[in-house]
This record gives sequence, C-alpha cells and structure tokens, in this order.
Amino acid sequence: MMNLDKILYKDELTKEEIIFLLSLEDSADQQKLFNRADQIRTTYCGNEVHLRGIIEFSNNCEQNCLYCGLREDNLSLQRYRMMPEEIIEAAKVISNLGIFTIVLQSGEDFFYDTHEISYIIYQIKQHADVAITLCLGERGFDEYREWKIAGADRYLLKHETANPKSYQVYHKKQRLIERLNHLRYLKTLGYQIGSGNMIGLPMQTVDDIADDILLCKDLDLDMAAFGPFIPSPHTPYQNKNAGDVDLTLRTIAVARLVLKNVHIPATTALATLDEDGRAKGLNVGANVVMPDLTPNPYRQLYQIYPDRKCINDNPLHCKACLQLQIESLGRKIADGRGDSLKLNDEPSRSLSKIN
Ligand code: SF4
Repeated sequence: MMNLDKILYKDELTKEEIIFLLSLEDSADQQKLFNRADQIRTTYCGNEVHLRGIIEFSNNCEQNCLYCGLREDNLSLQRYRMMPEEIIEAAKVISNLGIFTIVLQSGEDFFYDTHEISYIIYQIKQHADVAITLCLGERGFDEYREWKIAGADRYLLKHETANPKSYQVYHKKQRLIERLNHLRYLKTLGYQIGSGNMIGLPMQTVDDIADDILLCKDLDLDMAAFGPFIPSPHTPYQNKNAGDVDLTLRTIAVARLVLKNVHIPATTALATLDEDGRAKGLNVGANVVMPDLTPNPYRQLYQIYPDRKCINDNPLHCKACLQLQIESLGRKIADGRGDSLKLNDEPSRSLSKIN
C-alpha cells in the first residue's frame, strides 16, 4: 500500500511511485500533490515566471507526424515562410517588450540552410541581449555546431514519447533512438536542451508517461514540457480525443517532484483546452510561459492544432495580459534571460533597447 504523504517528501521516486501519483483521482490527494509541487517549484525556481517569445517563422515541414497539423501531407494548410529580415525584426520587437528569450521555431524546413539560420542568429545577437532557443526539428550535427558558434543558446526537441513502438507509429520516418542521440549531442555542444511529451496521444498509457518523466531526468534536461494533445483537422488523428487536463496537471506536478531544477512551461495547448489552464499549470509546478509573438499575417497559419489560445495581434497587449495573469497569482515576470537552473551563474544581461 503506497503512502501518499511519505512519497511526496521522498527525494527520489521509483517508477511505481510516479505511476501512483499520476493516477491519483481523489481531489484532496491531487491537491496535496499540487501543493507539494508548488513548494518545490518555489524552492528551486523562486517566484519568477520566465517568458519565452516564440517566432514561428515557417509552417513548412518535411515530416508527417500523425498528430500534427503542419505535416507534409496536410494539403489544406496555407503555407508560409518568413524572410530573414522579417524574423530579425520580429526578434527586436520581442526584445523591446522586455522578453529576453527568443524561440525560433519552424517545421523541419530545409529551405533555410545552415548559413541562413546562422545569419539570423548572429544578427539577432548583434541587436539584442537575448538568449536564442532553436526549435527546428532534427537537423545535421554540423549545423548544430555552426549555430552554436553563431550564438544559439538552447535547443528544444521534444521526444513526444519514450515508448519506441509508439514513436515509430507516430513518426514513421524517424526513430526514437536517433532523436535521443540528437539531444545528447546538443548537450555535448553546450546547448541548454529542452524536450518533453504530449499527454493523451493515442495508445499512450500512464506507464508511458512515467517513462517520459524518467527519460527527461536521464537526459539531464534544462527544460521539460508536458502539454496536452489536441487533435488537428486533416490529420490521421483528427477524430481522437484531446488529452485530459487533470492528467496533464498531475504530469507537470510529478515532473516537478522528479526533475526539480528544470524549467517547466505552462503550455499554450493547456491554455487552449482550459480557460484557466495557464494559471493552473503555474500553480502546480510550472515556471515558464511561452507566448506566440509571430507577426501577422503568419500567426494564425501555424496550425499544429486548431483554435490556439492567444492569437493576439498586438504584442504589447499580450505582454500586459500575461503580466496581469502572473501577478494575480502572486508571482512576477522575470527580468533576466532565464537560463538553465543548472548553471551556477546566470550570464549578466545589460539591458539594451534596440531600434
Ligand atoms: S510535429 Fe514537427 S516534425 Fe512533426 S509534422 Fe509537426 S512540425 Fe513537422
């Protein structure tokens, strides 16, 4: 018989204990889990919430992940690519808002070659004192190296599931082992690395989610994201059920217990499924929010899933709205880059306004 109160205060959790926590149904028990995760978040991350401004610069993708609206076979999606100067300009807007991490995100789009991405990174770094996170899918090992030299700081590459058989079904052309090799190589290059899963993918079990959390620990991640699956039209999974919000919240909470000094976002997908999802995520262990600040007319075309929350035209309104939400929770927006909690000293940032 598992003892909840004892488990919540253990330093290391076994897989069985993780499964036990993920399976809690009683609302009082869940609240104990959430309270403990919030306490651990305070200890390791403080009260600050880090904002990461995302620029989704291309919705073209050469992959065909079964769950994703950007998959190559989705012919109904209007595709776009932002030009390098547009991307650099968007990064300046974000930096001037006082958001000091820029996430450059796209499908796996080899239209942008190694040098073009390097140029974009380098130019952003020349103009703004920001951290740059790349989220471009699996690219060449030489490219990762060149982008690091150009100034990239972090790489986000979600593993989606630690179950190799399910991974093969979802991704067909790709293998889990290769994805993990990419993540490990990125780490050796000095990138701060992020990964994570999707809650509620078809065939997923609680056992799989426990493995996902343990894999995040094994990878020694700097950031781990756990967001709910949302079915997207014109994909093979369009008629599947969305992920469960409560299970997603329990996953965030358990991940905080296991991973401790790792950044964990309250995802936009969670906010899309539940009006209060962002606040709920922040209350159960999350310490990061990643607003989509892609300029229009592109923003509404990045349809990984439909009806995304916060397709807001004005970045200023977006920042103000997030500030209100975060302050209403008794928290505050961080004024630094929010580098890895595993680094001893956060690089100093000289606040630079750019034109
Ligand atoms: S999940 Fe990523 S790699 Fe897969 S289809 Fe979507 S954008 Fe492409």
